[in-house]
Amino acid sequence: MPIDPTLAYDHSNIFARILRGEIPAKKVYEDDFALAFHDIAPQAPVHVLVIPKGAYVSWDDFSAHAPAEEIAGFIRAVGHVAREQGLVAPGYRLLANVGMDGGQEVPHLHVHLFGGKPLGRMIAA
Ligand code: 5GP
Repeated sequence: MPIDPTLAYDHSNIFARILRGEIPAKKVYEDDFALAFHDIAPQAPVHVLVIPKGAYVSWDDFSAHAPAEEIAGFIRAVGHVAREQGLVAPGYRLLANVGMDGGQEVPHLHVHLFGGKPLGRMIAA
């Protein structure tokens, strides 16, 4: 079920639990600002999720409330992961779902990184 992004941060959400090491994830990158790991149900040959370490419900929450250092660190981490995954030359897609119409299901900001094949239309017809 898509989440309501205006709700307060839920510290029991699945990505908060991954950040705390309470449940496993196939990590590909970690630094002070971000953690990246493979999506459990990949929708492309490469499907990595990049999440900030801070407690932000969504892109809206993060862009409005995160300190500049956290925003810069997170954006740099997303770019770093894409390069590390070899996605730059062939190309790739970034996606951040927000709220009900966006179809966001996990209430901790995450950017999807898709690649590894031509990705087709941006939004299904
Ligand atoms: P959203 O729809 O919120 O943008 O995307 C949530 C993503 O998280 C989905 O692609 C889903 O497959 C992924 N996901 C949900 N639970 C887990 C989990 O426990 N581990 C991992 N690695 N990915 C998850």
